[in-house]
Amino acid sequence: MRKTNYHMHTKRCMHASGSDEEYVLAAIEGGYEEIGFSDHCPWKYDSDFVAHMRMPLSQFDDYYQSIAALRDKYKDQISIKIGLECEYFPKYMKWLEEFKEAKGLDYIIFGNHYYKTDEKRIYFGTECEYDHMLKAYIDEAIQGMETGLYAYLAHPDLFMHGRRKFDELAEKKSVRLCEAAKHLHIPLEYNLNGALYNDVMNVTHYPHPKFWEIAAHVGNDVIIGVDAHEPKAMMNDRYRDEAIAYLTSLDMNIIDKLPEKH
Ligand SMILES: [Zn+2]
Ligand SMILES: [Zn+2]
Repeated sequence: MRKTNYHMHTKRCMHASGSDEEYVLAAIEGGYEEIGFSDHCPWKYDSDFVAHMRMPLSQFDDYYQSIAALRDKYKDQISIKIGLECEYFPKYMKWLEEFKEAKGLDYIIFGNHYYKTDEKRIYFGTECEYDHMLKAYIDEAIQGMETGLYAYLAHPDLFMHGRRKFDELAEKKSVRLCEAAKHLHIPLEYNLNGALYNDVMNVTHYPHPKFWEIAAHVGNDVIIGVDAHEPKAMMNDRYRDEAIAYLTSLDMNIIDKLPEKH
């Protein structure tokens, strides 16, 4: 299996650290063959809302140019793709589609973080404690995947951050999500930043074993995402090795490159 990772942030999102070059150097040091930057999408809002977990749109060109320069500088050592991690915000999807095309992004991944738009400040990660929000999370994840814009679904089991208990509804909704992803040929991401959080906080939020047992049963493709928020995450193989052993024990198909069609 090739060592790849398409989920990395930069300090522009205001909750990650390190320079762009430090991420690349750490990835080379860590033995990665191919990486992709997927910082949080700089949505263009209708309102004067200012998000605090993503770069403003005005910083996008710097993001792109900085990574493009590193891609050229290190081209003999590592392959670098330029992407974004984007939500599914129905009213802004036309903008996203045009933006992706106009800027020549290699790919975008789907991080279903907020309900409808983050202007409403409803974070699925915590709100899925409530049944109606878990249902909304799954509905929007499926609607988002149906757009065909995203290479894969990041941390599909994000809802377990707020849900805590993998109850009957979580099971039912997980089956629905996994079956939809399978039908649409969209891989699900096993998120290593979540694995780190589970370990450090001594909790089982996401990745959640009950979710992955369902995904294995449905037969989803899985891709491992470091979700790096600091360069050194690219040199820590512990969670990656554990994930590979675990997913292999579930007999899952682990993919090591971006899907062709996205
Ligand atoms: Zn995310
Ligand atoms: Zn992320």
